[in-house]
Amino acid sequence: MEIYLDNAATTALDPEVIEAILPFLTTHYANPSSSHRAGRRAKEAVDQARRTVAHLLGAAPEEIYFTAGATEGINLALSGAIQAYDLSHVITSRIEHKAVLQTLKRHEKEGDIETSFVKLDERGNVDLYHLENLLRANPRTLIALMHGNNEIGNLTDIHAIGVLARRYNAVFFTDTTQTMGKAHFDLREADIDFLVGSAHKFHGPKGVGFVYINQKHRLKPLIYGGGQERGQRGGTENVVGIVGLAKALEVAYRNLEASRSKVSKLKQYLVSKLAISGIEGICYNGESKSAENSVANVLSASFPCLSTGSLVARLDQVGIQVSGGSACQGGGASHVIQALACEADKENVRFSFSKFNTFEELDLVVDAITRIYESDPVVSTRAGWKRIASWA
Ligand code: PLP
Repeated sequence: MEIYLDNAATTALDPEVIEAILPFLTTHYANPSSSHRAGRRAKEAVDQARRTVAHLLGAAPEEIYFTAGATEGINLALSGAIQAYDLSHVITSRIEHKAVLQTLKRHEKEGDIETSFVKLDERGNVDLYHLENLLRANPRTLIALMHGNNEIGNLTDIHAIGVLARRYNAVFFTDTTQTMGKAHFDLREADIDFLVGSAHKFHGPKGVGFVYINQKHRLKPLIYGGGQERGQRGGTENVVGIVGLAKALEVAYRNLEASRSKVSKLKQYLVSKLAISGIEGICYNGESKSAENSVANVLSASFPCLSTGSLVARLDQVGIQVSGGSACQGGGASHVIQALACEADKENVRFSFSKFNTFEELDLVVDAITRIYESDPVVSTRAGWKRIASWA
C-alpha cells in the first residue's frame, strides 16, 4: 500500500505536464539563446510559457521571471529589493518559510536591515493593527508575509496587507508557494510588488519556479551571467521545467474549482472520520481545520500521547506518507508550531491532499491510526482511548 498525503511538500506530475514536456526532453533540446531554428523554437516555448503564466495571474509577461524554484525567487525578491532600494526595515512573521526567515537573518547579520515580527494571534493569524503600527513607525519598509502557510494552512489577507503597504509607501512581497494554482490572483488589481511560485507544488516539475516583479521595480540580481531573464537571472533557461511549469499552472487554473472542492471535501472527511475514531483529544493547529481560513489541502493535527516523529514513522511503516510539519524541517521542532501561543504539546502531523487522493485512502489512514492506538497499551491508556460501541 502506498498512500501519499504529503502534497504540501511536493506533488505528482500531472499527465498533461508529462505530455507537454516530453518533446523538450527528447528532440527539442536546443538552447533558447541559439540563433538557429531549433534555438528559436526553444525560445518561443519559453516566451509562450511566460505569456501563459502572466495571463493566468493578470500580469504582464515582462513581470514574470523564471527561477529554479520558490527559494531562489524569495532570495531574489527580498535581497534584490533590499539592495536595489536600500530598504532598512523588514516586517515579517515567525511562521514564514525558512527561505524567507534565513534570507532576512543574513541581511540582519550583515547590518543591512532591522527586522520586526508582526504579532500573531493564538491561531497564527496576522494582527493587522500591529502591522499598521509597525508601518507607521518605520519608513522604507519591506513587508514579507506569506499567503498560505505550508504547515498549518493559515491564509493571510494579502489584499488588506497590500492596501496597508500602499498607504504607508512600503514594498510588499508575499510568498504564494502554497497557494499558487489553488487561489485566483489578479495582479493588475492587487497591491503586491513581488510574489513567487514553485512548479512542483502544483503538479509541475521540481527545480523550476518564477518570481513576479511588478513592472515598476527592477531588482539587484542574485545570479549574474549571460543576461537571460532580462538580466535579472543569468543562466541557460530550464526549458523543460519552464514548459512544464506553465502547463501545470494552466491545468491547475482550468480545474481550480473542482480540485479545491475535492481537496476540501477530503480534508473535512478526514476530520469527521477522526472525530468518530474513538481517539480522544485530537487537536488541529492554526486555522487548518477551517474551510475558509486555510489552504484547502493542508490539515495539521496533534495526536494525544504520540509524538509527531513516532506517528509519522509508524504510518510510514504501513506505506502512508505524511509529514511532521514541513518537509524542509528535517526532523527538528517546527518553528511554526512553536510560534503558536496556544498549542500545548507542540506536535503536528501534516496531512496534505491533492486531486489524486481518494476518500477510500483516508478510510485506510484512519484505520491505520486507530490500529496504532489499539496496539500500543501505553499510548491507548494515556490517551483515554475508548472503543466505541459499533466496534465492540
Ligand atoms: N515557501 C513555502 C511556503 C513553501 O512551502 C516552500 C516549499 O516547501 C518554499 C517556499 C520553497 O520552495 P522550493 O523548495 O520549491 O524552493
